[in-house]
Amino acid sequence: MSTIYQPLHEHPQLSATDTGLLTAVSAGEARLTPEQGLELLTGAPLHTLGRYADARCRSIHGNHVRSYIIDRNINYTNICTAKCIFCAFKRKGDEHDAYTLEYEELYQKVQELSDIGGTQILMQGGMNPALKLDWYLELLNGIRERFPHVKIHAFSPPELIEFVNFFDPPGSTLIDKVRWVLIKLKEAGMGSLPGGGGEIFAPAVRTKIGLGKCDMNAWLEVMYAAHSLGMFTSASMMYGHIEGYADRIHHMHMVRHWQDKAIRDFGTGELPDAVAFDPTVKKPETGGHYLGFHSWPFQPDNTALGRLPHWPTETDLENDSPFPGDTVAKLDGSGTKDTDPNFGRRLRLAGATEYLRTQAVSRLMLDNLYTIGSSWVTMGPHVGQVALSYGANDMGSVMMEENVVSSAGTTYCLDEAVLCRLIRNAGYIPGQRDTTYDILKTHTDSNSPDLLVKDWSEHRTKRLHIENTKPETTAQLTVGATDS
Ligand code: SF4
Repeated sequence: MSTIYQPLHEHPQLSATDTGLLTAVSAGEARLTPEQGLELLTGAPLHTLGRYADARCRSIHGNHVRSYIIDRNINYTNICTAKCIFCAFKRKGDEHDAYTLEYEELYQKVQELSDIGGTQILMQGGMNPALKLDWYLELLNGIRERFPHVKIHAFSPPELIEFVNFFDPPGSTLIDKVRWVLIKLKEAGMGSLPGGGGEIFAPAVRTKIGLGKCDMNAWLEVMYAAHSLGMFTSASMMYGHIEGYADRIHHMHMVRHWQDKAIRDFGTGELPDAVAFDPTVKKPETGGHYLGFHSWPFQPDNTALGRLPHWPTETDLENDSPFPGDTVAKLDGSGTKDTDPNFGRRLRLAGATEYLRTQAVSRLMLDNLYTIGSSWVTMGPHVGQVALSYGANDMGSVMMEENVVSSAGTTYCLDEAVLCRLIRNAGYIPGQRDTTYDILKTHTDSNSPDLLVKDWSEHRTKRLHIENTKPETTAQLTVGATDS
Protein backbone atom coordinates (compact mmCIF):
# COMPACT_ATOMS: atom_id res chain seq x y z
CA MET A 1 0.00 0.00 0.00
CA SER A 2 1.22 3.50 -0.71
CA THR A 3 2.02 5.98 2.02
CA ILE A 4 -0.02 9.16 2.25
CA TYR A 5 2.58 11.29 3.97
CA GLN A 6 5.42 11.44 1.45
CA PRO A 7 6.06 14.74 -0.38
CA LEU A 8 4.63 14.60 -3.90
CA HIS A 9 5.49 16.54 -7.03
CA GLU A 10 3.05 18.47 -9.16
CA HIS A 11 3.12 18.41 -12.96
CA PRO A 12 1.31 21.62 -13.89
CA GLN A 13 2.13 21.32 -17.59
CA LEU A 14 -0.08 18.23 -17.94
CA SER A 15 -3.79 18.14 -18.62
CA ALA A 16 -5.77 16.73 -15.70
CA THR A 17 -7.10 13.99 -17.95
CA ASP A 18 -3.62 12.84 -18.93
CA THR A 19 -3.79 9.13 -18.12
CA GLY A 20 -0.18 9.04 -17.03
CA LEU A 21 -0.84 11.80 -14.51
CA LEU A 22 -4.03 10.19 -13.22
CA THR A 23 -2.30 6.83 -12.89
CA ALA A 24 0.52 8.45 -10.90
CA VAL A 25 -1.96 10.36 -8.70
CA SER A 26 -3.95 7.22 -8.00
CA ALA A 27 -0.76 5.39 -7.07
CA GLY A 28 0.22 8.18 -4.64
CA GLU A 29 3.17 9.24 -6.81
CA ALA A 30 2.03 12.67 -8.02
CA ARG A 31 -0.04 15.58 -6.78
CA LEU A 32 -2.82 17.40 -8.64
CA THR A 33 -2.61 21.17 -8.90
CA PRO A 34 -5.78 23.14 -8.05
CA GLU A 35 -6.15 23.91 -11.78
CA GLN A 36 -6.08 20.20 -12.57
CA GLY A 37 -8.56 19.51 -9.76
CA LEU A 38 -10.96 22.03 -11.27
CA GLU A 39 -10.52 20.57 -14.73
CA LEU A 40 -11.43 17.14 -13.37
CA LEU A 41 -14.42 18.38 -11.38
CA THR A 42 -15.91 20.29 -14.28
CA GLY A 43 -14.90 18.21 -17.24
CA ALA A 44 -13.91 14.60 -16.61
CA PRO A 45 -16.42 11.82 -17.30
CA LEU A 46 -18.00 10.45 -14.12
CA HIS A 47 -16.69 6.94 -14.79
CA THR A 48 -13.13 8.27 -15.19
CA LEU A 49 -13.34 10.03 -11.86
CA GLY A 50 -14.71 6.89 -10.26
CA ARG A 51 -12.05 4.65 -11.75
CA TYR A 52 -9.10 6.74 -10.57
CA ALA A 53 -10.58 7.70 -7.19
CA ASP A 54 -11.26 4.02 -6.56
CA ALA A 55 -7.70 3.13 -7.56
CA ARG A 56 -6.37 5.76 -5.15
CA CYS A 57 -8.62 4.44 -2.40
CA ARG A 58 -7.40 0.89 -3.02
CA SER A 59 -3.76 2.01 -3.02
CA ILE A 60 -4.26 3.39 0.51
CA HIS A 61 -6.76 0.95 2.00
CA GLY A 62 -6.30 -2.24 0.02
CA ASN A 63 -8.95 -4.26 -1.76
CA HIS A 64 -10.75 -5.98 1.07
CA VAL A 65 -12.03 -4.08 4.11
CA ARG A 66 -14.19 -0.96 4.21
CA SER A 67 -14.97 0.49 7.59
CA TYR A 68 -17.79 1.86 9.74
CA ILE A 69 -18.05 3.00 13.33
CA ILE A 70 -20.69 2.63 16.00
CA ASP A 71 -21.10 6.07 17.47
CA ARG A 72 -23.84 8.48 18.38
CA ASN A 73 -24.42 12.10 17.44
CA ILE A 74 -25.32 14.09 20.50
CA ASN A 75 -26.40 17.68 19.97
CA TYR A 76 -26.28 19.00 23.51
CA THR A 77 -27.93 22.36 22.81
CA ASN A 78 -29.69 24.01 19.88
CA ILE A 79 -29.32 27.54 21.25
CA CYS A 80 -26.91 29.48 19.08
CA THR A 81 -25.76 33.07 18.60
CA ALA A 82 -24.85 32.62 14.93
CA LYS A 83 -27.26 33.17 12.04
CA CYS A 84 -26.23 30.69 9.36
CA ILE A 85 -28.85 30.85 6.64
CA PHE A 86 -28.43 27.16 5.80
CA CYS A 87 -29.29 26.05 9.34
CA ALA A 88 -32.65 24.63 10.38
CA PHE A 89 -31.40 23.50 13.78
CA LYS A 90 -30.56 26.63 15.72
CA ARG A 91 -32.92 28.38 18.13
CA LYS A 92 -32.81 31.60 20.08
CA GLY A 93 -32.73 31.04 23.83
CA ASP A 94 -36.32 32.21 24.31
CA GLU A 95 -37.94 30.03 21.63
CA HIS A 96 -40.34 27.39 22.91
CA ASP A 97 -38.33 24.50 21.51
CA ALA A 98 -34.88 25.75 22.52
CA TYR A 99 -33.08 23.16 24.62
CA THR A 100 -29.93 22.31 26.50
CA LEU A 101 -29.74 18.70 27.61
CA GLU A 102 -29.20 17.90 31.30
CA TYR A 103 -26.16 15.85 32.29
CA GLU A 104 -28.35 12.85 33.14
CA GLU A 105 -29.99 12.92 29.71
CA LEU A 106 -26.59 13.09 28.09
CA TYR A 107 -25.24 10.20 30.18
CA GLN A 108 -28.33 8.18 29.27
CA LYS A 109 -27.60 8.69 25.58
CA VAL A 110 -24.01 7.51 26.04
CA GLN A 111 -25.27 4.52 28.02
CA GLU A 112 -27.56 3.53 25.14
CA LEU A 113 -24.62 3.78 22.77
CA SER A 114 -22.44 1.71 25.08
CA ASP A 115 -25.18 -0.94 25.27
CA ILE A 116 -24.97 -1.59 21.52
CA GLY A 117 -21.15 -1.78 21.52
CA GLY A 118 -20.49 1.83 20.52
CA THR A 119 -17.03 3.30 20.84
CA GLN A 120 -17.44 7.02 20.17
CA ILE A 121 -19.76 9.97 20.70
CA LEU A 122 -19.81 12.87 18.29
CA MET A 123 -20.93 15.72 20.50
CA GLN A 124 -21.63 19.14 19.07
CA GLY A 125 -24.07 21.95 19.63
CA GLY A 126 -24.99 25.52 18.95
CA MET A 127 -22.89 28.37 20.31
CA ASN A 128 -24.73 28.89 23.58
CA PRO A 129 -23.46 31.80 25.71
CA ALA A 130 -25.25 30.49 28.82
CA LEU A 131 -22.92 27.51 29.12
CA LYS A 132 -19.72 28.18 31.06
CA LEU A 133 -16.41 26.35 30.80
CA ASP A 134 -17.11 24.43 34.00
CA TRP A 135 -20.32 23.06 32.47
CA TYR A 136 -18.27 21.49 29.66
CA LEU A 137 -15.48 20.26 31.94
CA GLU A 138 -17.90 18.59 34.33
CA LEU A 139 -19.73 16.96 31.43
CA LEU A 140 -16.54 15.64 29.82
CA ASN A 141 -15.23 14.35 33.17
CA GLY A 142 -18.61 12.76 33.89
CA ILE A 143 -18.67 10.93 30.57
CA ARG A 144 -15.06 9.78 30.89
CA GLU A 145 -15.58 8.45 34.42
CA ARG A 146 -18.75 6.56 33.53
CA PHE A 147 -17.75 5.38 30.07
CA PRO A 148 -13.95 5.16 29.85
CA HIS A 149 -14.26 2.96 26.74
CA VAL A 150 -16.14 5.64 24.76
CA LYS A 151 -14.02 8.20 22.90
CA ILE A 152 -15.25 11.77 22.92
CA HIS A 153 -15.07 13.34 19.46
CA ALA A 154 -16.44 16.78 20.23
CA PHE A 155 -17.06 20.41 19.31
CA SER A 156 -15.85 22.17 16.17
CA PRO A 157 -13.67 25.16 15.24
CA PRO A 158 -16.59 27.65 15.32
CA GLU A 159 -17.55 26.41 18.78
CA LEU A 160 -13.94 26.76 19.95
CA ILE A 161 -13.81 30.35 18.72
CA GLU A 162 -17.01 31.14 20.56
CA PHE A 163 -15.69 29.41 23.70
CA VAL A 164 -12.88 31.97 23.62
CA ASN A 165 -15.42 34.79 23.38
CA PHE A 166 -17.60 33.34 26.14
CA PHE A 167 -14.88 32.19 28.59
CA ASP A 168 -12.29 34.97 28.13
CA PRO A 169 -9.33 32.62 28.70
CA PRO A 170 -5.73 33.83 29.23
CA GLY A 171 -3.47 34.33 26.20
CA SER A 172 -2.12 37.16 24.08
CA THR A 173 -3.50 35.95 20.73
CA LEU A 174 -6.73 34.32 19.69
CA ILE A 175 -4.94 31.06 19.01
CA ASP A 176 -3.14 31.13 22.39
CA LYS A 177 -6.57 31.39 23.94
CA VAL A 178 -7.93 28.56 21.80
CA ARG A 179 -5.00 26.39 22.87
CA TRP A 180 -5.69 27.16 26.53
CA VAL A 181 -9.32 26.08 26.14
CA LEU A 182 -8.36 23.01 24.12
CA ILE A 183 -5.90 21.91 26.80
CA LYS A 184 -8.60 22.21 29.47
CA LEU A 185 -11.09 20.22 27.36
CA LYS A 186 -8.48 17.62 26.52
CA GLU A 187 -7.53 17.19 30.17
CA ALA A 188 -11.21 16.66 30.97
CA GLY A 189 -11.58 13.89 28.38
CA MET A 190 -12.10 15.35 24.90
CA GLY A 191 -10.21 13.09 22.52
CA SER A 192 -10.48 14.58 19.05
CA LEU A 193 -12.01 17.49 17.18
CA PRO A 194 -14.51 16.98 14.33
CA GLY A 195 -14.46 19.21 11.29
CA GLY A 196 -17.84 20.83 11.71
CA GLY A 197 -18.52 24.29 10.40
CA GLY A 198 -16.22 23.95 7.39
CA GLU A 199 -18.99 24.74 4.86
CA ILE A 200 -17.11 26.54 2.08
CA PHE A 201 -13.96 28.42 3.09
CA ALA A 202 -13.92 31.12 0.38
CA PRO A 203 -14.74 34.40 2.17
CA ALA A 204 -17.27 35.62 -0.42
CA VAL A 205 -19.40 32.50 0.14
CA ARG A 206 -18.77 32.14 3.84
CA THR A 207 -19.81 35.66 4.72
CA LYS A 208 -23.06 35.22 2.78
CA ILE A 209 -24.18 31.93 4.33
CA GLY A 210 -22.55 31.77 7.77
CA LEU A 211 -23.28 35.00 9.61
CA GLY A 212 -21.60 35.03 13.01
CA LYS A 213 -19.48 31.99 12.33
CA CYS A 214 -15.65 32.03 12.30
CA ASP A 215 -13.81 32.72 9.04
CA MET A 216 -11.56 30.35 7.11
CA ASN A 217 -8.33 31.40 8.80
CA ALA A 218 -9.75 30.98 12.28
CA TRP A 219 -11.18 27.57 11.32
CA LEU A 220 -7.84 26.35 9.99
CA GLU A 221 -5.84 27.87 12.87
CA VAL A 222 -8.05 26.16 15.47
CA MET A 223 -7.40 22.83 13.76
CA TYR A 224 -3.67 23.55 13.64
CA ALA A 225 -3.72 24.36 17.37
CA ALA A 226 -5.44 21.01 18.01
CA HIS A 227 -2.84 19.26 15.86
CA SER A 228 -0.06 20.92 17.86
CA LEU A 229 -1.53 19.27 20.97
CA GLY A 230 -1.41 15.86 19.30
CA MET A 231 -5.14 15.74 18.58
CA PHE A 232 -6.66 14.14 15.51
CA THR A 233 -9.28 16.08 13.61
CA SER A 234 -11.35 15.83 10.47
CA ALA A 235 -12.33 18.31 7.78
CA SER A 236 -15.68 18.89 6.17
CA MET A 237 -17.24 20.71 3.24
CA MET A 238 -20.87 21.49 2.51
CA TYR A 239 -21.48 22.41 -1.11
CA GLY A 240 -24.25 22.64 -3.66
CA HIS A 241 -25.62 26.07 -2.77
CA ILE A 242 -24.21 29.44 -3.92
CA GLU A 243 -20.56 28.45 -4.34
CA GLY A 244 -18.70 27.94 -7.62
CA TYR A 245 -16.78 24.83 -8.56
CA ALA A 246 -13.50 26.64 -7.97
CA ASP A 247 -14.59 27.27 -4.37
CA ARG A 248 -14.81 23.53 -3.75
CA ILE A 249 -11.30 23.00 -5.09
CA HIS A 250 -9.94 25.95 -3.11
CA HIS A 251 -11.50 24.39 0.01
CA MET A 252 -9.81 21.03 -0.64
CA HIS A 253 -6.54 22.77 -1.44
CA MET A 254 -6.60 24.62 1.90
CA VAL A 255 -7.17 21.38 3.82
CA ARG A 256 -4.30 19.73 1.93
CA HIS A 257 -2.00 22.68 2.52
CA TRP A 258 -2.65 22.78 6.28
CA GLN A 259 -2.29 19.01 6.47
CA ASP A 260 1.15 19.36 4.87
CA LYS A 261 1.97 21.96 7.51
CA ALA A 262 0.76 19.80 10.41
CA ILE A 263 2.72 16.79 9.18
CA ARG A 264 5.83 18.89 8.63
CA ASP A 265 5.60 20.58 12.04
CA PHE A 266 4.30 17.79 14.26
CA GLY A 267 5.14 14.55 12.44
CA THR A 268 2.56 11.86 11.91
CA GLY A 269 2.82 10.34 15.37
CA GLU A 270 3.87 7.10 13.72
CA LEU A 271 6.92 5.14 14.80
CA PRO A 272 9.51 3.82 12.37
CA ASP A 273 8.65 0.30 11.16
CA ALA A 274 11.49 -1.22 13.19
CA VAL A 275 9.81 -0.36 16.51
CA ALA A 276 6.19 0.12 15.47
CA PHE A 277 4.98 -3.09 17.11
CA ASP A 278 7.18 -2.93 20.21
CA PRO A 279 4.76 -2.31 23.13
CA THR A 280 7.55 -0.88 25.26
CA VAL A 281 8.06 1.99 22.79
CA LYS A 282 5.67 4.84 23.51
CA LYS A 283 4.14 6.64 20.55
CA PRO A 284 5.16 10.29 20.23
CA GLU A 285 2.73 12.68 21.89
CA THR A 286 2.51 14.97 18.90
CA GLY A 287 1.50 13.90 15.43
CA GLY A 288 -1.93 15.51 15.38
CA HIS A 289 -3.35 15.97 11.90
CA TYR A 290 -6.50 15.54 9.81
CA LEU A 291 -7.58 11.92 9.58
CA GLY A 292 -10.58 12.24 7.33
CA PHE A 293 -12.53 14.42 4.93
CA HIS A 294 -16.32 14.39 4.81
CA SER A 295 -18.31 16.37 2.29
CA TRP A 296 -21.99 16.48 1.52
CA PRO A 297 -24.53 18.47 -0.46
CA PHE A 298 -26.53 21.20 1.26
CA GLN A 299 -29.99 20.05 2.43
CA PRO A 300 -32.39 22.91 1.66
CA ASP A 301 -35.66 22.17 3.50
CA ASN A 302 -36.70 24.62 6.22
CA THR A 303 -33.80 26.96 5.56
CA ALA A 304 -33.59 30.54 4.38
CA LEU A 305 -30.85 29.58 1.91
CA GLY A 306 -33.09 26.86 0.51
CA ARG A 307 -35.67 29.43 -0.55
CA LEU A 308 -33.40 31.11 -3.10
CA PRO A 309 -34.44 30.70 -6.75
CA HIS A 310 -32.83 27.77 -8.44
CA TRP A 311 -30.39 28.50 -11.22
CA PRO A 312 -31.07 28.83 -14.10
CA THR A 313 -34.23 30.91 -13.74
CA GLU A 314 -36.14 31.95 -16.87
CA THR A 315 -34.30 35.26 -16.84
CA ASP A 316 -30.96 33.49 -16.52
CA LEU A 317 -31.87 31.37 -19.54
CA GLU A 318 -32.95 34.42 -21.57
CA ASN A 319 -29.72 36.23 -20.73
CA ASP A 320 -27.63 33.10 -21.04
CA SER A 321 -26.24 33.91 -17.56
CA PRO A 322 -23.62 31.61 -16.11
CA PHE A 323 -24.06 30.46 -12.53
CA PRO A 324 -23.05 33.49 -10.43
CA GLY A 325 -21.01 31.37 -8.02
CA ASP A 326 -18.76 30.30 -10.90
CA THR A 327 -18.32 33.90 -12.06
CA VAL A 328 -17.16 34.94 -8.59
CA ALA A 329 -15.14 31.89 -7.49
CA LYS A 330 -11.36 31.88 -7.79
CA LEU A 331 -9.01 29.01 -7.07
CA ASP A 332 -7.11 31.08 -4.52
CA GLY A 333 -10.30 32.00 -2.67
CA SER A 334 -10.02 35.69 -3.56
CA GLY A 335 -13.34 36.00 -5.42
CA THR A 336 -15.49 38.98 -4.46
CA LYS A 337 -19.26 39.24 -4.48
CA ASP A 338 -19.21 42.41 -6.61
CA THR A 339 -18.15 40.39 -9.64
CA ASP A 340 -21.76 39.31 -10.23
CA PRO A 341 -24.87 41.13 -8.93
CA ASN A 342 -26.71 37.81 -8.70
CA PHE A 343 -24.09 36.21 -6.49
CA GLY A 344 -25.82 34.73 -3.44
CA ARG A 345 -29.20 35.00 -5.17
CA ARG A 346 -29.21 31.71 -7.03
CA LEU A 347 -29.05 28.18 -5.74
CA ARG A 348 -27.38 25.27 -7.54
CA LEU A 349 -28.24 22.14 -5.60
CA ALA A 350 -26.11 19.02 -5.95
CA GLY A 351 -27.69 15.63 -6.64
CA ALA A 352 -26.21 12.13 -6.60
CA THR A 353 -23.98 12.52 -9.66
CA GLU A 354 -22.58 15.81 -8.43
CA TYR A 355 -21.99 14.26 -5.03
CA LEU A 356 -20.04 11.33 -6.53
CA ARG A 357 -17.99 13.67 -8.75
CA THR A 358 -17.06 15.93 -5.86
CA GLN A 359 -16.20 13.06 -3.57
CA ALA A 360 -14.04 11.37 -6.25
CA VAL A 361 -12.11 14.59 -6.86
CA SER A 362 -11.62 15.03 -3.11
CA ARG A 363 -10.01 11.57 -2.97
CA LEU A 364 -7.63 12.53 -5.76
CA MET A 365 -6.86 16.04 -4.47
CA LEU A 366 -6.43 15.11 -0.80
CA ASP A 367 -3.45 12.84 -1.29
CA ASN A 368 -2.27 13.39 2.30
CA LEU A 369 -5.51 12.43 4.07
CA TYR A 370 -6.17 8.87 5.12
CA THR A 371 -9.94 8.69 4.93
CA ILE A 372 -12.71 9.89 2.68
CA GLY A 373 -16.12 9.30 4.24
CA SER A 374 -19.27 8.35 2.37
CA SER A 375 -22.23 10.58 3.18
CA TRP A 376 -25.09 8.09 3.16
CA VAL A 377 -26.81 10.19 5.79
CA THR A 378 -27.69 12.84 3.24
CA MET A 379 -27.53 10.85 0.00
CA GLY A 380 -29.33 7.71 1.16
CA PRO A 381 -27.90 4.25 1.76
CA HIS A 382 -27.59 3.17 -1.85
CA VAL A 383 -25.80 6.24 -3.17
CA GLY A 384 -23.69 5.98 -0.01
CA GLN A 385 -22.88 2.41 -0.99
CA VAL A 386 -21.93 3.44 -4.55
CA ALA A 387 -19.69 6.09 -2.97
CA LEU A 388 -17.41 3.20 -1.92
CA SER A 389 -16.53 2.94 -5.62
CA TYR A 390 -15.87 6.69 -5.87
CA GLY A 391 -13.04 7.06 -3.41
CA ALA A 392 -14.73 6.56 -0.02
CA ASN A 393 -13.27 3.95 2.33
CA ASP A 394 -15.56 4.57 5.28
CA MET A 395 -19.34 4.33 5.64
CA GLY A 396 -19.38 6.43 8.78
CA SER A 397 -21.66 5.57 11.61
CA VAL A 398 -24.79 3.70 12.42
CA MET A 399 -27.35 6.40 13.13
CA MET A 400 -29.12 6.14 16.47
CA GLU A 401 -30.34 9.70 16.36
CA GLU A 402 -29.85 12.72 14.17
CA ASN A 403 -31.13 16.21 14.89
CA VAL A 404 -29.26 18.46 12.62
CA VAL A 405 -29.33 17.58 8.95
CA SER A 406 -32.73 16.05 9.72
CA SER A 407 -33.95 19.54 10.51
CA ALA A 408 -33.16 20.58 6.95
CA GLY A 409 -34.45 17.62 4.99
CA THR A 410 -34.73 13.90 4.84
CA THR A 411 -31.91 11.89 6.33
CA TYR A 412 -31.66 8.17 6.92
CA CYS A 413 -31.25 5.90 9.90
CA LEU A 414 -29.40 2.58 9.56
CA ASP A 415 -28.44 -0.08 12.06
CA GLU A 416 -25.21 -2.08 12.12
CA ALA A 417 -26.59 -5.05 10.19
CA VAL A 418 -27.77 -2.86 7.31
CA LEU A 419 -24.51 -0.94 7.23
CA CYS A 420 -22.53 -4.20 7.09
CA ARG A 421 -24.82 -5.52 4.37
CA LEU A 422 -24.30 -2.42 2.26
CA ILE A 423 -20.53 -2.73 2.57
CA ARG A 424 -20.57 -6.48 1.83
CA ASN A 425 -22.86 -6.08 -1.18
CA ALA A 426 -20.49 -3.45 -2.53
CA GLY A 427 -17.82 -6.15 -2.61
CA TYR A 428 -15.96 -5.57 0.67
CA ILE A 429 -15.62 -7.06 4.12
CA PRO A 430 -17.23 -4.78 6.72
CA GLY A 431 -14.82 -3.72 9.44
CA GLN A 432 -15.85 -1.94 12.64
CA ARG A 433 -13.34 0.81 13.37
CA ASP A 434 -12.52 3.18 16.19
CA THR A 435 -12.06 6.96 16.19
CA THR A 436 -8.59 6.76 14.65
CA TYR A 437 -9.69 4.35 11.89
CA ASP A 438 -8.01 1.32 13.42
CA ILE A 439 -10.09 -1.77 12.60
CA LEU A 440 -11.49 -3.37 15.76
CA LYS A 441 -13.04 -6.39 14.07
CA THR A 442 -13.66 -7.61 10.56
CA HIS A 443 -16.89 -9.42 9.87
CA THR A 444 -15.84 -12.49 7.93
CA ASP A 445 -17.80 -15.30 9.56
CA SER A 446 -21.43 -16.32 10.06
CA ASN A 447 -21.62 -14.29 13.28
CA SER A 448 -21.35 -11.07 11.32
CA PRO A 449 -24.21 -8.64 12.12
CA ASP A 450 -25.59 -8.84 8.58
CA LEU A 451 -25.15 -12.60 8.15
CA LEU A 452 -27.13 -13.30 11.32
CA VAL A 453 -30.23 -11.59 9.95
CA LYS A 454 -32.97 -13.91 8.75
CA ASP A 455 -35.74 -11.37 8.17
CA TRP A 456 -34.66 -8.09 6.60
CA SER A 457 -38.12 -6.59 6.94
CA GLU A 458 -37.18 -5.87 10.56
CA HIS A 459 -34.24 -3.78 9.38
CA ARG A 460 -35.87 -1.40 6.94
CA THR A 461 -34.10 1.89 6.52
CA LYS A 462 -35.78 4.49 8.65
CA ARG A 463 -36.11 7.98 7.34
CA LEU A 464 -35.72 10.87 9.69
CA HIS A 465 -37.41 14.09 8.84
CA ILE A 466 -38.27 16.60 11.50
CA GLU A 467 -40.96 18.98 10.34
CA ASN A 468 -40.04 22.53 11.13
CA THR A 469 -42.83 24.87 12.10
CA LYS A 470 -40.80 28.10 12.09
CA PRO A 471 -38.82 28.16 8.86
CA GLU A 472 -38.35 31.91 8.90
CA THR A 473 -36.42 31.88 12.16
CA THR A 474 -34.40 28.78 11.71
CA ALA A 475 -31.86 27.51 9.53
CA GLN A 476 -28.96 23.51 9.13
CA LEU A 477 -26.13 22.84 11.40
CA THR A 478 -23.59 21.09 9.30
CA VAL A 479 -21.41 20.29 12.24
CA GLY A 480 -21.59 16.73 13.06
CA ALA A 481 -24.41 15.05 11.37
CA THR A 482 -22.35 13.49 8.66
CA ASP A 483 -18.96 14.25 10.04
CA SER A 484 -17.23 11.53 11.95
S1 SF4 B 1 -24.92 26.06 11.66
FE1 SF4 B 1 -24.17 25.95 13.80
S2 SF4 B 1 -23.26 27.96 14.14
FE2 SF4 B 1 -24.63 28.18 12.35
S3 SF4 B 1 -26.60 28.83 13.21
FE3 SF4 B 1 -26.67 26.59 13.03
S4 SF4 B 1 -26.07 25.89 15.06
FE4 SF4 B 1 -25.40 28.01 14.91
